[in-house]
Amino acid sequence: MLRIHNSLAREKQAFTPIEPGKVRMYVCGLTVYDYFHIGNARTLTVFDMVYRWLRAAGYDVKYVRNITDVDDKIIERANRNGETIETLTTRMIDAMHEDCDRLLMLRPSAEPRATQHIDDMLGLIGDLEKNGRAYPAANGDVYYAVREFPGYGKLSGKSIDDLRAGERVAVDGHKRDPLDFVLWKAAKPHEPHWCSCYGEGRPGWHIECSAMSRAELGDTLDIHGGGWDLQFPHHENEIAQSEGASGKPFVNYWMHAAFLNMDNEKMSKSLGNVFTTREVLNKLDAVQGGEAVRFFLLRGHYRSEINYTWDLLQEARGALVSLYTALRDVPPAVSAADYRIDWADPHARRFHDAMSDDFNTAMAFAVLFDLRGEIHRHRSPAHAALLRALGGTLGFLQADPAAFVQGAAQASEAAEIEALIAARVQAKKARDFAEADRIRDEIKARGVILEDGAGGTTWRKA
Ligand code: AMP
Ligand code: ZN
Repeated sequence: MLRIHNSLAREKQAFTPIEPGKVRMYVCGLTVYDYFHIGNARTLTVFDMVYRWLRAAGYDVKYVRNITDVDDKIIERANRNGETIETLTTRMIDAMHEDCDRLLMLRPSAEPRATQHIDDMLGLIGDLEKNGRAYPAANGDVYYAVREFPGYGKLSGKSIDDLRAGERVAVDGHKRDPLDFVLWKAAKPHEPHWCSCYGEGRPGWHIECSAMSRAELGDTLDIHGGGWDLQFPHHENEIAQSEGASGKPFVNYWMHAAFLNMDNEKMSKSLGNVFTTREVLNKLDAVQGGEAVRFFLLRGHYRSEINYTWDLLQEARGALVSLYTALRDVPPAVSAADYRIDWADPHARRFHDAMSDDFNTAMAFAVLFDLRGEIHRHRSPAHAALLRALGGTLGFLQADPAAFVQGAAQASEAAEIEALIAARVQAKKARDFAEADRIRDEIKARGVILEDGAGGTTWRKA
């Protein structure tokens, strides 16, 4: 039985989907004005892991992750670059897909864009107005009246009065209450805008997710995810909008991923301590980099903060290489296509239990390392097949092990190293041990580690 920590209930709960065997999952996606950073990558990768595990557990999952393709930051960046919003967002969406692919993420079932759902948003705003929860103001904006929604604050665990005191929201003459938030913004000159019964304007950010989740998945979702920071105000406002319009529960399980910090400080654009995912990937070995970053991002539990440093990333890469080394040394008994996991196997069972306990990847990874130990101890192809398959449920260990362990050494470099190894063998045969040692040092200086085994000498990048 899968148990999920529900941020709304503040506890782990048994997971029961609305429709047996099916999961409707929505995750807040990116605002596409720039390349995404390694902190965004954590949240995206966590929900890719959740998606993969739900599928491995036998669910038919519809996974929707939106794209915010109109907002202040996009407008400002497009103006600064002297390009249209469309050109900027198209380029950034392509880059997002490239980077997500490099991190071995599956594409969501749908990636709705805000600009393609303006009518759905206006429809929802209309429903809220009918229910007395939205009001047009004199300045042409339309606001949500938070005091008209009795459950406001239930996700963040605060009353409206606490929130008012805590947030120090600026008083705005057009709002009835300082916490009221904008659903529709009146058009400003030189900004993109759409026609509506409220006049020309563009949607607020929060309404996007309520409208697109309704369009794609219906009024009630099984799982809604996002980064921890989105609980307030974004998700609180989504609840107010969706439940305020439909009168039905919006989300059964709220999941929030903890942050990635940079040298123990929050990574964010405003602090200026941001590394884009592509910057990080480009500094790593081209063959190992994507999977190594994925491994680094998932090896802690998703509700624990993780710290990004170059050393920790390299350590994660080394750990992943060690799993691949086991698969290279003892090839799995059966091809991946013909293999089915026997969940009654004790290792498989432990892996399953860990993942069923609120997606505990830290514990699940420990099982992978135990299997690596078994493979080395018993040279067991059956354990190797299980390791590859369990890793595969989370998007790992599907590359060719020998090629992965070797890394992206260019074919020419590989040939040079092979030639040096052959020369060393010759030197040894000729009992010229000084020469053999000299060659060994030369190979080492290239960042290559030699492993002398029964079947000859193999090598890998350090
Ligand atoms: P944004 O583009 O800022 O709206 O963020 C997109 C997603 O990335 C949201 O789900 C955020 O919660 C998440 N996010 C932003 N910064 C971080 C971080 N440092 N660590 C983890 N997730 C983050
Ligand atoms: Zn959202």
